[in-house]
Amino acid sequence: MPTDIEIARAAELKPIQQIAAKIGIPEDALHLHGKHIAKIDDRFIAGLPKKQGGKLVLVTAISPTPAGEGKTTTTVGLGDALNHIGEKAVMCLREPSLGPVFGVKGGAAGGGRAQVIPMEQINLHFTGDFHAITSANNLLAALVDNSLYWGNPLNIDPRRIVFRRVLDMNDRTLRSIVSGCGAPTNGYTREAGFDITVASEIMAIFCLANDLKDLEERIGRIVVAYTPDRKPITARDVDAQGSLGVLLRDALRPNLVQSIDGSPVLIHGGPFANIAHGCNSVIATTTGMKLADWTVTEAGFGADLGAEKFMDIKCRSSGLSPDVVVIVATVRALKMHGGMAKSDLKTENVEALKAGLANLGRHIENVKKFGVPVVVGINHFVADTDAEIEALQSAVRNEFGVEAVVCRHWADGARGAEDLARAVVKIAGEEKADFRCLYPEDMPLLQKVETIAKEIYRADKVTASAAIKKQLKDWEEAGYAKFPVCIAKTQNSFSADPTAFGAPTGHTLPIREVRLSAGAGFVVVVCGEIMTMPGLPKVPASANIRLLEDGTIDGIA
Ligand code: ADP
Ligand code: MG
Repeated sequence: MPTDIEIARAAELKPIQQIAAKIGIPEDALHLHGKHIAKIDDRFIAGLPKKQGGKLVLVTAISPTPAGEGKTTTTVGLGDALNHIGEKAVMCLREPSLGPVFGVKGGAAGGGRAQVIPMEQINLHFTGDFHAITSANNLLAALVDNSLYWGNPLNIDPRRIVFRRVLDMNDRTLRSIVSGCGAPTNGYTREAGFDITVASEIMAIFCLANDLKDLEERIGRIVVAYTPDRKPITARDVDAQGSLGVLLRDALRPNLVQSIDGSPVLIHGGPFANIAHGCNSVIATTTGMKLADWTVTEAGFGADLGAEKFMDIKCRSSGLSPDVVVIVATVRALKMHGGMAKSDLKTENVEALKAGLANLGRHIENVKKFGVPVVVGINHFVADTDAEIEALQSAVRNEFGVEAVVCRHWADGARGAEDLARAVVKIAGEEKADFRCLYPEDMPLLQKVETIAKEIYRADKVTASAAIKKQLKDWEEAGYAKFPVCIAKTQNSFSADPTAFGAPTGHTLPIREVRLSAGAGFVVVVCGEIMTMPGLPKVPASANIRLLEDGTIDGIA
């Protein structure tokens, strides 16, 4: 099997106009970025009628392990396979961040024969969306410090500026800094810091906005600082929304690229999956649904985090609702959930697999609580044995009452996921989704956290200090009572303990901190170590990234 990069390079890139034509986008609705990437015009999108009967498929997964699951790869493989069997499908993915590309090796455009191209451009600056988001974010940060400098008419408490600067790079040195040092003309000296762009509230807003107007309104609501008596100061108070909207207008148009099999793929926006909701933009997903019969999209992390936030945050705010959920599982990862060490995974072990099934089973039960039919996609790895696959399929059918379909798109491309595509079409035809969010918007904020903790994580209780409880109450009184909650916890376990594999019960979910994302429209509930500015590893991926003599880029996989 050739490497991902060899496959991507060998693929024949079609002109993007040809890909656009497959879903009825005329050339004059494209803003071309070279030959193989285009942005889709916003007025064209706004003029499209809502398509009747279009289906939305969410791809999510079991709790991630270091063995890897392959959600993006499966999203691409499934979309390709739907097109292969004669349906009309579009895939919607997140844009990669430069930080991880140069930090921990790993592209974010699928793998094997289920990839999106042009891979290097997608993983590098792409169409500049993240630069636009970075600039918009930092303009707002500058406006806040500027208001403080020019006589502080808003009575900003310099110790209570909560809006941070961002940068699309892993740079731990900037996590915590002192800004405004030196002469009085340099502004007020204060403690500050940078986050990575994908962790910014602007990114979350970018991905939840229904259109430019909604984007500007949400930006206006961002709480940037507090007065000494704790009154919130918003982006609107520094008149930021108009100019930030200008910086973001072009970026807000979804990006069209292609899979190596020639399927249209929208890659747009990329918020963190912990302190934000972790899925591509609402604009891209709704555009996909207007253009194709099937829109296949991915949510970050495992289903306890990614799918829950997709439903309770993205769907609630946009009116979207999934018709089918695909839960990606691998034999390898289930064996790890069953107690096997990563180094032993190549040996057959049906017992470990069976022990690990509890993790998959709980995710299936959880997704059903949202009223959406489920199918399991077994992402096949070469070391999987027939006995393991057989045990997995029969257990899923007998114990959890859903189908588990083997897919080999990584090795075989579209053909490899044909069975999964047919299963998805069959389920969507036979079982009508009766979508509901997990909790109503009227529930008190703490009770929303408790509902997720009990129903999804199966914790016994939630703990929070008196100060946190008071903060939640204060926000309810300040008009944020209807917000959903966005839980930031480890992705590796249902519990807050990253080493508790499988399906732990009886645990406690400890709330460490709460943050308001008033523009994005949710309350972030931090239940673990959350890094909003990652660092680089000792030997970063950048050590192997270079331009070759012939101009090709080497080292990005
Ligand atoms: P996720 O979206 O869940 O983070 P990806 O789809 O990005 O996962 O896949 C992670 C890595 O695993 C990629 O490098 C991909 O090439 C690899 N991978 C995915 N599926 C397979 C498979 N069936 N066999 C071998 N490698 C795979
Ligand atoms: Mg992914």
